[in-house]
Amino acid sequence: LPEPDVVAPADGDVAAMLPRPAAESDKYRRGVVGIAAGSDTYTGAAVLSAGGAVRAGAGMVRFASSAEPVRLVRARWPEVVTTVLDTSSGVSLDAIGRVQAWVVGPGLGTGPEAHTVARAVLSAEVPVLVDADGLTIVAADRALLHRTAPTLITPHAGELSRLLGVPREQIEARRLEHVRRAAEELGVTVLLKGSTTLIAETGLPVRAITTGTPWLATGGTGDVLSGIAGALLAGGLGPYDAASCAAHVHGLAARVAARGGAAGGRGEAPIAALDVAEALPAA
Ligand code: AMP
Ligand code: MG
Repeated sequence: LPEPDVVAPADGDVAAMLPRPAAESDKYRRGVVGIAAGSDTYTGAAVLSAGGAVRAGAGMVRFASSAEPVRLVRARWPEVVTTVLDTSSGVSLDAIGRVQAWVVGPGLGTGPEAHTVARAVLSAEVPVLVDADGLTIVAADRALLHRTAPTLITPHAGELSRLLGVPREQIEARRLEHVRRAAEELGVTVLLKGSTTLIAETGLPVRAITTGTPWLATGGTGDVLSGIAGALLAGGLGPYDAASCAAHVHGLAARVAARGGAAGGRGEAPIAALDVAEALPAA
């Protein structure tokens, strides 16, 4: 049954919300997004998250991580300004330069060094998006989400299950109820991923995004989404609009990518996560 309190933005609604550079814009005013992602074990998520931010139109992407992900991000995205973090005596983000929003978590790992990085990012007084391993870290210490600046979390059902301490099956059976409950209990904006993506912020209608394709169910697409939403947060959208617009264009980009290549517009073919990032401008 249609729920009165659930809305699905149209393409035009999203187009109207997306930040566009003004004639007098410069890269700093357009939005600098910081990404703290990747580890020497998980390097790919960092490249994908950075790619989502670059292709979504960030004014600048700053990337901070350990040596190996930094090397790979530099190789794939020369636009990105990188910093190798030394976590041996705590992390200060001051040396990285100003950012208007942070993304933390994809491929970060969950060990002591990852905790140090997550703590530093979450103490910054700018909007923060927490995804993937970052969600595992805050599930173990929910007080990290008590911040003054906006926080957006982007779990799939398994990650939300850990955050709420509710079995995954229950979340999947009643997604709407649980996305609302998470927003209320955790005091953050929640984007719950799935074939339909739901965005909840207390006091606002839940937004449902269905622009995607089942071909999105492949490794790394969520990491691209984190970069897109981070770029939009840095561009000045609030967490509710940034999450909705990011999920909407991420789905459209996946469709564009799936119709390219051999499919030639006559159906859909498999996509890789990086294809989704590359299709963002067309979408
Ligand atoms: P993650 O779970 O972090 O890897 O993210 C997967 C991404 O793919 C999310 O944006 C999901 O919403 C999307 N996705 C996964 N499965 C489907 C599906 N069956 N249909 C549409 N989108 C999907
Ligand atoms: Mg993920």
